[in-house]
Amino acid sequence: MSIASVSYDADLHTEISRGLNLLFTILFMFTQPNITLNDGNVIPQLGFGVWQVPSSDTAEVVGTAISTGYRSIDTAAIYGNEVGVGTAIAANSLRRTELFITTKLWNDRHTTAHRAFDESLKRLKLDYLDLYLIHWPKPRQNAYIEAWKALVKLKEEGKAKSIGVSNFTVSHLKRIVDATGVVPSVNQIELHPGFQQEELTAYHAEHGIITESWSPLGQGTLLESASLKALGQKHGKTPAQVIIRWHLDRGYIVIPKSVTPSRIRENFDVFDLSLDADDLAKIAALDRKDGRIGPDPQTADF
Ligand code: NAD
Repeated sequence: MSIASVSYDADLHTEISRGLNLLFTILFMFTQPNITLNDGNVIPQLGFGVWQVPSSDTAEVVGTAISTGYRSIDTAAIYGNEVGVGTAIAANSLRRTELFITTKLWNDRHTTAHRAFDESLKRLKLDYLDLYLIHWPKPRQNAYIEAWKALVKLKEEGKAKSIGVSNFTVSHLKRIVDATGVVPSVNQIELHPGFQQEELTAYHAEHGIITESWSPLGQGTLLESASLKALGQKHGKTPAQVIIRWHLDRGYIVIPKSVTPSRIRENFDVFDLSLDADDLAKIAALDRKDGRIGPDPQTADF
């Protein structure tokens, strides 16, 4: 076999795998829901979170998520695994536009956001981000308005297609909108059946901000709930699948995390599940005002 025909075969192989990936993406587009953000960009509603995924495992874990069908990946500079996410993206033959990549500005970079953004982009081996978030407001530092102005600029420059925040309360949201006139597309907040954040999500809905749920499974703690187990049994699904379906039905973006391939697949197998009014009432009853697992954004100062 000549060298020319070997390289022809390799090209053919790449083209076939690109074609198959495109076919899968089109199929997934019909099976998995998307949300249109307030700037017109579209995000897959079910994404994959990588907090606490060890950097050495991240490329493989994210590769499993992508081949399962996830098209949206949520990382952050502070997770220390952007390089692994970038490796998984580069190793895949999907077109860049078929993936939706989010990362976040860490708290000590509020006044140096442009440089922090470029550093993240370099680690991810990308030339733009789909969504860039301010990770925490850190109110005592009082620099999140300056950070938001930088993100507005990054969007104007086309480097971040969409911009948003994370862990912002109503008062933090009001301050950044008053200062710039720009409403974040997303607020990523702790939200799960044990902590449903009715007031904040109502404010989001009123102002065109999409709610994105972090720790959507309550970091796994909710999976032992008797009432979620019973709902799982009723539908022939697991408690994790019931919870993810609930987030989707509420109109939230949801980004469950797992490093276990069977769970990564399980968490994506939720599109044939339909919860009824009785199920929703049972899940509504799990809400607790003191159900927060993570830090309180009003006081968090790390
Ligand atoms: P999660 O609610 O997604 O729970 C993850 C844990 O649940 C896993 O470690 C695993 O132990 C368990 N689990 C997952 N799927 C399971 C299944 N099918 N069966 C049994 N157990 C299962 O928690 P999380 O990782 O804290 O949150 C998800 C993502 O949200 C993170 O990876 C990250 O991307 C994001 N996040 C953002 C912030 C923020 O401040 N913006 C904070 C925390 C998390």
